[in-house]
Amino acid sequence: MSNRDYAVNVSGRRTQRGKIVLPLLKGLAYTLKNFFSKPITIQYPTQRREVRERWRGLHRLNVDGQGTLKCVACGLCAKICPPQAIRIVPYEEEGGTRFPKEFYIDEIRCIFCGFCQEACPVGAIELTKVYDYVDYDRQDFQFDITKLKDPEQFIFKGK
Ligand code: SF4
Ligand code: SF4
Repeated sequence: MSNRDYAVNVSGRRTQRGKIVLPLLKGLAYTLKNFFSKPITIQYPTQRREVRERWRGLHRLNVDGQGTLKCVACGLCAKICPPQAIRIVPYEEEGGTRFPKEFYIDEIRCIFCGFCQEACPVGAIELTKVYDYVDYDRQDFQFDITKLKDPEQFIFKGK
């Protein structure tokens, strides 16, 4: 081997080393940096993320000071609902007071567009920030008045 060949060989080996060692050091530096920084993951469900103000989760049927449903069973929300997820059975008393005898929302059909909340003339329906309702049976996603009055009870807290 001539002196020239030897020089080429040595410099080639140096280049090879640079290709391995430099990325390795970069990787180590990145690992160290993240090892001491705050994790972006959380211990769900014991820790929960605060969702945005405009988040649209499970519905709530609002009540007045006496605990009576504000809903006057006008049917506007059911009419405007794109996937027809709302079903109302209205009832009218002799004095002309209307209220829903039955009120159902199919939370599987719902696309959480918020149209029902916007259409309601009396602020009787609202989309809450509850986002993690889970169940095994499709039937349990048919929310009736009892469920719709208190959607916060379904916030998942773990087993
Ligand atoms: S949020 Fe939209 S899809 Fe869901 S019930 Fe209301 S109107 Fe219907
Ligand atoms: S629009 Fe409001 S008041 Fe009318 S049926 Fe729906 S929830 Fe009740």
